[in-house]
Amino acid sequence: MSKLNFDTYYNVINGQLKGSDEQYFSINPFNEEKLWPVPVATAEDLDEAVNAGNAAFGKWQHSSVEERRRRCNEFADSLLAQKNDWVEAISKETGQPKELAEGEVDAAHEWLTTISNIDLPEYITHDDEEVKVVTKYFPLGVVAGICPWNFPVFLAAAKIASAVSTGNTIIIKPSPYTPYTALKLAELAQHFFPPGVIQALGGHDNLGPWITKHPGIAKISFTGSSATGKKIVAAAAPTLKHVTLELGGNDAAIVCPDVDIDAIIPTVVDDAFSHAGQVCVAAKRIYVHESIYNEFIEKFAAACKNLTPGQRYLSPIQNKMQYDKIKAIFENSRSQQHEFVLGNAEPETKKRGYFMSPAIVSRPPEQSRLVQEEPFGPIVPVLVWKDEEDVIRRANDTDQGLGATLWCRDPERAERIAMRLEAGSVWVNRGAMPMPTALFGGVKQSGLGGEWGPLGLLNYCSARTFHFAKQ
Ligand code: NAD
Repeated sequence: MSKLNFDTYYNVINGQLKGSDEQYFSINPFNEEKLWPVPVATAEDLDEAVNAGNAAFGKWQHSSVEERRRRCNEFADSLLAQKNDWVEAISKETGQPKELAEGEVDAAHEWLTTISNIDLPEYITHDDEEVKVVTKYFPLGVVAGICPWNFPVFLAAAKIASAVSTGNTIIIKPSPYTPYTALKLAELAQHFFPPGVIQALGGHDNLGPWITKHPGIAKISFTGSSATGKKIVAAAAPTLKHVTLELGGNDAAIVCPDVDIDAIIPTVVDDAFSHAGQVCVAAKRIYVHESIYNEFIEKFAAACKNLTPGQRYLSPIQNKMQYDKIKAIFENSRSQQHEFVLGNAEPETKKRGYFMSPAIVSRPPEQSRLVQEEPFGPIVPVLVWKDEEDVIRRANDTDQGLGATLWCRDPERAERIAMRLEAGSVWVNRGAMPMPTALFGGVKQSGLGGEWGPLGLLNYCSARTFHFAKQ
């Protein structure tokens, strides 16, 4: 296989690389310079991809599980063969420093190999002398994977793994802010899968709405904001598409009085500031018990003091829209005279690049924007609690419910609190790190359905029940 060229980008339709009359450029967040030209898919391109996806589905749905696994594994391994090129391209389009981009490539590999190795269940729900009843899972058809801009390769790879290993075909639609590496991933996939099984289309803001109403698409797997998720459900209703929504969160991290502060601080720092907080399961509200509050916040701020934007895992903000959104949250906190224990109450403004230094705000009011909204940026409130009931109520007092972390050495108390947290994933004495073997999804307005693990794969299938009469 010849090496991939990371200077040219195409849509991938029916096994072919396709350009377009119209092109656009996305921006490198480190320096605001234009990156490479990238095609803009038309409605005709989408029709062509949907037709190719449905044609490929005819055969692919009957391929053996072993064949799908083998192809997914070979595809995943080929990613690592040019790892440095992937890392560089991911870094340029998302703003991730090298360490983080390396982690993204590794995660893409891990999700592709792990998810494709999960067996779908089948259930015998009744078996007597008259009848045996069996429920089995079947693929749906063409899946559209609509992706956000924070982890373009990982999230596309996870959707690809889930779709193709269950016998579906997939069209990936990257965010217009980060179109490059997801298109390249689909280009690489052409070496391992038949035409039409894995395709990708990049374009303008009209592409997503065309996809959600297209009658030839059977399922939307969407990762992005709650606001867009609601539009997608509405747009998918007339054609009754299956929809999985992985949406935003406002995740609480609860710190109990019995923790070893020094031991947990590095992970809490990661949870709050990795990728500059542009992570769906980032710790967005940290609740610390009053008996250790002062020591915790002092050590937390000290541990963050030397984080330099653009280095290690503190990315610049990926785009101007997001930068301005976070800036408004900074300004709101500053105008309300919240106590900044780190950060100077103003986002860092460099001449070029969307850099922001991390900020920690001590005890802002519970109703402030900073506590109520998902900043998706490097600013985090640290709040105080003394009563277990009260902290559970405050952690749950939101219409979001993606993740939560809990730090507590007493196992009984940990389990008691964890079971009452209204979140799709609760990490107890662990950082907020999803796994490919575990169902991942939000409750309340953080999602609909879920992905990954055996249960996530079922959302890429329809269940059919067979009643075999005994003769
Ligand atoms: P976004 O909702 O603005 O965009 C996501 C994708 O949807 C993009 O590809 C965009 O082009 C597309 N889109 C926009 N409008 C559409 C429409 N009407 N119809 C169809 N598609 C449309 O989200 P974003 O700003 O790219 O990402 C940030 C958000 O994503 C945050 O809220 C974050 O928490 C969330 N997120 C969630 C997860 C998760 O797994 N739960 C993971 C990463 C990010």
